[in-house]
Amino acid sequence: MREMRALFLFFVNLFFIMLHPAMDAEKPFEFATTPGKLPKEVVPLEYSVRIVPNIDKFTFSGTETIKLSARSPVRQLVLNALELKITDASLDGKALPDSAIKIDKQNELLTLALPSDVATGDHTLALSFAGKINQQGQGLFYMPYQEQGSGAKKLILGTQFEATDARRFFPCWDEPVFRARFQLTTVVPGNWLAVSNMPIESEKKIAGEKEVRFATTPPMSSYLNVFIAGELDLIESRSGPTQFRLIATKGKAEMGRYALEATAQILKYYNDYFGAPYPLPKLDQIALPGGFGGAMENWGGITYFESGLLFDQKNSSAETKQNIYEVLAHEMAHQWFGDLVTMAWWDNLWLNEGFASWMGTKCTAHFNPQWEVWLRRNSPRDPTRRVGIAKEQAMEGDARSTTHPIQQPIATEAQANSAFDDITYKKGQSFLRMLESFLGKDIFREGIRRYIAKHKYSNSTTAELWDALSEASKKPVGEIAAGWTEQAGFPVVKVKREEGDKVSLAQERFTINFKNAPPLDWKIPLTYALVGEAPGTLLMTNKTDGLQNIPADRALKLNVNGAGNYRVEYDESSWNLLLQALPNLGVEDRVNLLSDAWALVQANRAPVSLYFGLVEKLPASTDLAEREQLINVLDLINRLFVGTPEREKFQSYARSLLQPTFETSGWEPRAGEPPAAGNLRASLITALGDLNDPKIIAGCRERFAKYLTSPQSLAPDLRPAVFAVVGRYADEKIWNQLHELGLKTTSVEEKQNYYNALAGTIDSKLVKKTLPIALTDELSTSRAIFLVSKVARDSDHPDMAWAFAKANMKALLAKTDALGANRYAPSLFTFFSEDSRATELKTYAQTNLPRESASEVAKAVDEIQFRSEFKARLAGQLSAWIDHQGKTAIRTRNGFSGRVALTIAQRF
Ligand SMILES: [Zn+2]
Repeated sequence: MREMRALFLFFVNLFFIMLHPAMDAEKPFEFATTPGKLPKEVVPLEYSVRIVPNIDKFTFSGTETIKLSARSPVRQLVLNALELKITDASLDGKALPDSAIKIDKQNELLTLALPSDVATGDHTLALSFAGKINQQGQGLFYMPYQEQGSGAKKLILGTQFEATDARRFFPCWDEPVFRARFQLTTVVPGNWLAVSNMPIESEKKIAGEKEVRFATTPPMSSYLNVFIAGELDLIESRSGPTQFRLIATKGKAEMGRYALEATAQILKYYNDYFGAPYPLPKLDQIALPGGFGGAMENWGGITYFESGLLFDQKNSSAETKQNIYEVLAHEMAHQWFGDLVTMAWWDNLWLNEGFASWMGTKCTAHFNPQWEVWLRRNSPRDPTRRVGIAKEQAMEGDARSTTHPIQQPIATEAQANSAFDDITYKKGQSFLRMLESFLGKDIFREGIRRYIAKHKYSNSTTAELWDALSEASKKPVGEIAAGWTEQAGFPVVKVKREEGDKVSLAQERFTINFKNAPPLDWKIPLTYALVGEAPGTLLMTNKTDGLQNIPADRALKLNVNGAGNYRVEYDESSWNLLLQALPNLGVEDRVNLLSDAWALVQANRAPVSLYFGLVEKLPASTDLAEREQLINVLDLINRLFVGTPEREKFQSYARSLLQPTFETSGWEPRAGEPPAAGNLRASLITALGDLNDPKIIAGCRERFAKYLTSPQSLAPDLRPAVFAVVGRYADEKIWNQLHELGLKTTSVEEKQNYYNALAGTIDSKLVKKTLPIALTDELSTSRAIFLVSKVARDSDHPDMAWAFAKANMKALLAKTDALGANRYAPSLFTFFSEDSRATELKTYAQTNLPRESASEVAKAVDEIQFRSEFKARLAGQLSAWIDHQGKTAIRTRNGFSGRVALTIAQRF
């Protein structure tokens, strides 16, 4: 039945795609026609909510009064509530009988039947209710943790409401379009600090506890509310009218110094960029020791998983520091894009996430050019990480049959939660970057300022962003954008040299593992350059186009700096000219060529020799982004070849590609080296360790042994890499040592390093010891379930990870939030490359997974099928390539190494 449904949906989608090829432009925001379940006759104006948590019983009781406006006479009130028991209800002071209160669990609705029509105008609804404090990061939840210093076991309370969980905290109109003012009051133990969106207005003692009343928020969407309480410390500072605070569990606030300073810098930048100052009196950055993996942009009170905010000068890595800045910049961009102006409905989620991803990266790159953030595609080593550029990852997903348009219809809560994916975040970001480079930076900013000024304290749709950018640029932005946001996929531009100085261009849809894909066209904002000359632009609006005045002997590069969201396929003579011109190309363009070449191999448009032929011709360099592109490819192949006869030969070849760079880079950080050098060293150690390099493994073991007695002997930047390699080849003694260290530390970052190392262990006896940790409370809930995913990815034993998860699914799912529930089981299958696993997942899904998991199941099935086909294809092609290279290897490799040394001498 389920498969028939999937097939049916496929044809419905196909029909939709073919009938509406980007012509059906979206309408501007209008309250009445915004999608959603709730009737629009009644709107909330202001909530006053009082919550009293009972931390012994993990329950809470609450009361609220809501000022409402009825826009027409109504006979019932419909709002959202979930897992709440309503004990009393009254309207305008008149109690409603119990029989008038109806909860529809399936639709998460609370309906109050009224004795007679309620007149148009203002009314007051009062409700009493009771709810529960959850283990997972949904609604109000608790986080157990070990206190810094004392190691004492404590817990704190926090909330997570996006997308649809404010309704677990208090009955409310829980759709983003119902903006209202919120005023929260709460009762907590006397020694606790309570935090919400606004500053504390008053406090009074009540028998060992205290009642805390927060000021009223400006009109905002319900999902942006926040409440945190526990034994907290803070450090603070101020800039103009805005107070910033960095809040963490006791003993840790000082580690937020870096984030507090970055906050001041970023806020100033955004106040200027958006042309509208930050509108609230304070901004809190709150470090939570668990509950969820990323960060959440609650207005005025942003929450972060601790390692995304706290930086320990002595023990944190440079990677952690960069991550903190990027996450801060992303979440703070939301304070305008998302909070001050909010998407009307979840079908426009990308307006929040694509924009914040782009803006955050732009801001990070502006203040930290040495980090090369636009260039680095952060590899998905941490599956919980949602921020980061990872453009390549999004393009790979967007080339498959299971992709979807950036803007997609959303009908249910589950669909809203599923919308937080790579397409929404990273394709959205990538498209905005392409558009900015096409329109020009100043014009683009002018459009954004107009948009914010026009829609602040309100909701909007994508159409209004395009209108603002069109007004600023006098270009048809909506028309250009439609193909990129309203239809799935993206194009490849084929470049062909014609007679004389002409070059012809042709576009077609770029796909991977997607037979008979519906053909589509795009309006492509192309950039191109003759190598060494200034770039030009061309808006390619037809299937074919052309360039003139391109001399037949000059190299032509399209997609300058890789800023565009399309692939380029060159004909042979164009490709050969580019290979010759490689030393004169910037690193951005070289990385772009590598990425495109690899994608063409994946798509079966080119043999693997295209990619490795390019790699072998690269000029020597220690550019981080370029080497990381190669490392990611080698890593993928290495994992695909687990258990195959080809693996050893491949590993030997792969090591020979990376070793010269490592020899130049060396083990020890050098004084004054750029931060990218540290990142590169760590990446190379991890990669070579994975590739079974005996020298690297011995070097890591030696450093780990020293670390056990003298922790400061190992640079923080190298720790994750050294622990990962030691963990991968661990025996029982080393496994126990790593575990011991993990149990002991109170630093979330260090804990993660140790448990990541355990997850990579390849000895199957030890894998059996690692997996059950996911069921204990050694790790916070979000990290615990991803421990299993990490084992599946890193241990060479995805089969053991899945068998364990299957046997313990109920206990594992109890630890995940709404975002994770639908994708957890399917995600564990994406590490398999045998067709039989696709069948197994489909069978499992039929009886064990909810209907809402269907799209995640389809994605996983597609991934398994792709890996199976790709593995077989690579095996033959790679073997031939390596044999061919063997004949010339010595000469090539020596040349490579020598030139690296020269580059380094100049760089440091
Ligand atoms: Zn975001």
